[in-house]
Amino acid sequence: MAPSAIRTTCCIAGGGPAGMMLGLLLARAGIDVVVVEKHADFLRDFRGDTLHPSTLEVIHELGFLDGLLKLPHQRIEEISAETGGRSYGVADFRHLPVTCPAIVLMPQWDFLDFLKRKAELYPNFRCLMGCNAVSLDFHDGRIVGLEADHGGERLAIQASLIVAADGRRSELRGAAGLEVETLGAPIDVMWFRVSRKQSDTNATAGRFDDGGVFVRIYRGDYWQCGYVVKKGEADTVMGQGIDAFRAAVAALTPFDDERLRRDLPDFSAVSVLSVAVDRLRRWHRPGFLCIGDAAHAMSPVGGVGINLAIQDAVATANLLSGRLASGTVTDADLEKVQARRFFPTRLTQAAQVVVQNRILSPTLSGARAATAPLPLRLLGRFSLLRRIPARLVGMGVRPEHVRSPKAGG
Ligand SMILES: Cc1cc2nc3c(=O)[nH]c(=O)nc-3n(C[C@H](O)[C@H](O)[C@H](O)COP(=O)(O)OP(=O)(O)OC[C@H]3O[C@@H](n4cnc5c(N)ncnc54)[C@H](O)[C@@H]3O)c2cc1C
Repeated sequence: MAPSAIRTTCCIAGGGPAGMMLGLLLARAGIDVVVVEKHADFLRDFRGDTLHPSTLEVIHELGFLDGLLKLPHQRIEEISAETGGRSYGVADFRHLPVTCPAIVLMPQWDFLDFLKRKAELYPNFRCLMGCNAVSLDFHDGRIVGLEADHGGERLAIQASLIVAADGRRSELRGAAGLEVETLGAPIDVMWFRVSRKQSDTNATAGRFDDGGVFVRIYRGDYWQCGYVVKKGEADTVMGQGIDAFRAAVAALTPFDDERLRRDLPDFSAVSVLSVAVDRLRRWHRPGFLCIGDAAHAMSPVGGVGINLAIQDAVATANLLSGRLASGTVTDADLEKVQARRFFPTRLTQAAQVVVQNRILSPTLSGARAATAPLPLRLLGRFSLLRRIPARLVGMGVRPEHVRSPKAGG
């Protein structure tokens, strides 16, 4: 049977932060856009809930910040690091020159659902949930469309531009023949939740002690916890049994045995993130562009993946909405997107690789000095210095601002 057909201006594969934000911005600019998302809803395993100040500033520029902040969330204004039995302030976001100088923690499904609802106010926006992009359509060396499986039915979508925002395991980037450069990651992260007691602090912190790295993120009535292991060692840790794992967690946290027994009954409560840091050498080919994790998978260091995905979407809309409106997007236009976003990606990944190799790996190997390193002691002592990491993490390199037009506005 012939597939059903759709003709649109821009088709975006993937309704994560990058795809949903780009869909919203293009729809707002009056461009006909179709987002295809393979899952039927946004509910899924934890994969980062952080909205950084520069992302919140984009939402503010769109006029949605008050509405977003009506959804349940927590705020992080400061981050600390614990080592050798002491706590050191590391980043203080409160002085950033933005409307919301804090990291906001919100379940990713709430955030994506919010963006989708805003985009659906535009009649030229369509989002097909449960729609899996399976192949690309080529014509004379140009990508002119994609084929998707929409609830068991074949769907052919023709578009002036296909954007792959299908995440770190992007199949479309491979189908387009784009080459991936792998930067390597010496760590994996075992994520789980531990309930929060009234008597706990609400400090989001990383703990670095010989042989162990542990992150706990304040989420209101629970802690989102990340136990960092050497690459590939999660299976070994699990092989040693849940009792040994609870003991290792207890050694790095104030969580009592009863709480850990209740919240970590077995390893089904733990999900393993295989950390990857990579990027495409070339993000585009005629008619086709990759953004977000599909163009560059980020390490969890700094929790910046969502932010970079959003910034890519804003830059793409800024640079391409005029071209899409006139119906001519050339490869040179797509190159401008890569040129704009490659530098922030490269610099951020370089910083993540330094932290992975110089701090996390030696700590996990027990090869780090017992005393806190000098930069950490200086940050702990001088509060003004904590504004520097806050700026780097909270705003990122080259923060983007909404410049794409608002149709009729
Ligand atoms: C466990 C974990 C913890 C993380 N923690 C953080 C954090 O604290 N802070 C942070 O900023 N980042 C974090 N990240 C990274 C962050 O989730 C990503 O960087 C960010 O979501 C990237 O956004 P994206 O839109 O590019 O891709 P994704 O969010 O991966 O979205 C891709 C979308 O495409 C869809 N899709 C895939 N293939 C297809 C297809 N063929 N057809 C249609 N749809 C498709 C997927 O279902 C998905 O919805 C974490 C990631 C993981 C896995």
